[in-house]
Amino acid sequence: MIMSVGRYSRQSFLGKEAQSIIEKCTVGVLGLGGGGSHTVQQLSHIGFENYILFDPDIVKHVNLNRLVGATENDAKKRMPKINVARRVILGLEHSAHIESYKAKWQTRSAPLRACDIIFGCVDTFAQRREIEDFARRYLIPYIDIGMDVHESKDRDNCFGMAGQVIVSMPGGPCMRCINFLSEANLAREASNYGAAGGRPQVVWANGVLASTAVGFAIDILTGWTKTSPVIAYMSYRGNDGTIIPHVRLEHLKVRKCTHFPLEQTGDPGYRRL
Ligand SMILES: [Zn+2]
Repeated sequence: MIMSVGRYSRQSFLGKEAQSIIEKCTVGVLGLGGGGSHTVQQLSHIGFENYILFDPDIVKHVNLNRLVGATENDAKKRMPKINVARRVILGLEHSAHIESYKAKWQTRSAPLRACDIIFGCVDTFAQRREIEDFARRYLIPYIDIGMDVHESKDRDNCFGMAGQVIVSMPGGPCMRCINFLSEANLAREASNYGAAGGRPQVVWANGVLASTAVGFAIDILTGWTKTSPVIAYMSYRGNDGTIIPHVRLEHLKVRKCTHFPLEQTGDPGYRRL
């Protein structure tokens, strides 16, 4: 429990109950690299006290260009990324309750059922599909962030930096509905698996995406903006520094998802055939 009087006075506009809601909320963060490390840092500043964290990796020197909270010494000691996240959180709230797993979340997903909100900070479409499947089954809001750098066809810009923030709410349009996930891009990714090499990642783009994602989470929890979107799909363009609603949302006809029917919620059941 937070003891410092007035510590959160500058965010009291979020509502009378907001800080209590934030303190009681359990938040899951899957992936504690470039995007996840920003996310955890911000959540701990805001006052979240209950975390379930997953990342199987250790800190390497090549991560230091973007891994918030990591040090040269962490890379030397091959520190697990979950330990860096724990240090950041506990540095701000020593009594925070943290369940952290140096593992892929799919290997022991049960703790994640307790989450009130899940952040996915992962690299692939396949992982996003798995997280959304899980979140929908247990009716948990899922917020996805990701970025990529690609070679641009525009001669003036050799590279294009793009990213997204997606809020997938139970019952609302999903990542398939908005065509972010499709059989085509999942198949393309599977056929290229292992060929991509090191994915370009930079700290400032991850910061924009994580900040936007955290902002959506606070709105979902506190309702301070008095709007409750059933879907958010923000498109980030790093070359011109903009983040705006994706154009696909304008053409989105469905407001309810048909990919995750109600009978597929809760633990999977088995029928005798
Ligand atoms: Zn859907």
